[in-house]
Amino acid sequence: MRENRSPWIHQLDVHRQTKRIDTDVLTDVVIVGGGIAGIATAFFLLKYTNKNVVLCDRDKIGHGATGHNAGQIVSYFERPFKDLVSEFGLDMVARAQRDVENAWQLLDEIYTDAGLDIPVSRFEGHMGIRTKEQLTAYLEDMKLRVAGGLNKEIMRIAIELSDVYQDTLASFAGLYEYVPHEEILHRLETDSKAFFASLSFQKGVTNSALFVQEVALYIQQKYGDRFSLFEHTNVSKVVLKATSILLDVGEHTVSAEKVVLCTNGFESFSIFTEEGLELNKRFHARVYGQVAYMSGYTGPVAHPPTAISYLKEDVPGPEANYNYLTRRPFEVEKDVKHDLVCVGGPTVPLYEENAYKDSNEYPESVVEELDTFLETTYKYAHGRSPQYKFTWHGLMGYTKNYVRMIGPDPTHSQVLYNLGCNGVGILPSLCGAKKISDHVLGKEIPPSMFDVRE
Ligand SMILES: Cc1cc2nc3c(=O)[nH]c(=O)nc-3n(C[C@H](O)[C@H](O)[C@H](O)COP(=O)(O)OP(=O)(O)OC[C@H]3O[C@@H](n4cnc5c(N)ncnc54)[C@H](O)[C@@H]3O)c2cc1C
Repeated sequence: MRENRSPWIHQLDVHRQTKRIDTDVLTDVVIVGGGIAGIATAFFLLKYTNKNVVLCDRDKIGHGATGHNAGQIVSYFERPFKDLVSEFGLDMVARAQRDVENAWQLLDEIYTDAGLDIPVSRFEGHMGIRTKEQLTAYLEDMKLRVAGGLNKEIMRIAIELSDVYQDTLASFAGLYEYVPHEEILHRLETDSKAFFASLSFQKGVTNSALFVQEVALYIQQKYGDRFSLFEHTNVSKVVLKATSILLDVGEHTVSAEKVVLCTNGFESFSIFTEEGLELNKRFHARVYGQVAYMSGYTGPVAHPPTAISYLKEDVPGPEANYNYLTRRPFEVEKDVKHDLVCVGGPTVPLYEENAYKDSNEYPESVVEELDTFLETTYKYAHGRSPQYKFTWHGLMGYTKNYVRMIGPDPTHSQVLYNLGCNGVGILPSLCGAKKISDHVLGKEIPPSMFDVRE
């Protein structure tokens, strides 16, 4: 039986001291959840406001989705740009996209302030395209991106197929370039000629759990007089009173003016207001779960870091259908570097919240699926079945429209959200964290695609 063993958790300091809540606490803002969303929210609140902040996590920080992801830093939404534009309008979607892309700068800001030296790699990452429908969908998206004032991605198409796609490409002049097919296969690190085009943009890789651990240490030290972190501290009840909020945490309570929910959507608490459980019902209906599976193997350091996704045959839609891999230098033992290759793609919907446990077995069928993907697609894996050092799964919280929720609840503004990973959550969490601090500062904030809706 394979266990849930993540490379990101493997690199955390098992001897780090944690603190449980041991008294009733009064604060200005309480954050529930210490993944990347919660810790980044604490960082920006502490940096840009003078509020006292408490963060509670029922486990250890960084052990949720943040410790079980692919660690790719990417800025796309898992829903076609065109679709989003038809729901929210071009201006709003372009602004949201720019906000997420600008989160790279927020990442830099945190790195600089906290003096972090944990690895983060940036490079041009790629997506492999194999059907005419995919090509057209991504070019249509790019056309809209450009109309919205965003930077172009780089679409490369095999010149050998220029005759075949001439008509299809007629309305996309200036949005693609022809290159030899060999160059596309080289960038995608594959011999599979089915991929005749690639879409490239800035991507990166990091260990977001390690990032969370290090940022937490920094804010505890820098803002020790205004910040308390309580781990193994489950919030079981949130009560909104006339002028304050009361959280039940074990035998103790936290009272605050505002609560920020950074729980990824799976929190097992109830929210009570003077009207009863109406808000609670709405809140819990907002996110549904998908369990996502990944495997990783190590080898000698041989190739630069990368992140590549490979579309399957279907047209990309809200449930984008692809396998992906990342490669990065990685220390399994301290100071000994390997290349770590991680692969993923398989996901399974979660029908009941409580059905997911960190300790759930890793199915052998997933291993076989990822083996087949590697053997048929990734040229450096041909001819051998990798020995996976790590196999892990994590829980992704999807909102109904695949858009993260950032900001105050529409009817109870003292409750704020930074949650709903929708498959891609590292940059959106940082973007959300900065926005939360702007909300708490009372800044004028224009309507956004991320606004929490009724
Ligand atoms: C397999 C997989 C691959 C992924 N790959 C990528 C990727 O490559 N790039 C990317 O950008 N995103 C990726 N994601 C998504 C990304 O990991 C998440 O969006 C991000 O880590 C979510 O961070 P979070 O802080 O919102 O949630 P989490 O990290 O899940 O943190 C939520 C925290 O809330 C705490 N909590 C919940 N309820 C309570 C309670 N009642 N009381 C106290 N604490 C509570 C939990 O203990 C947990 O620590 C992936 C996710 C998975 C699962």
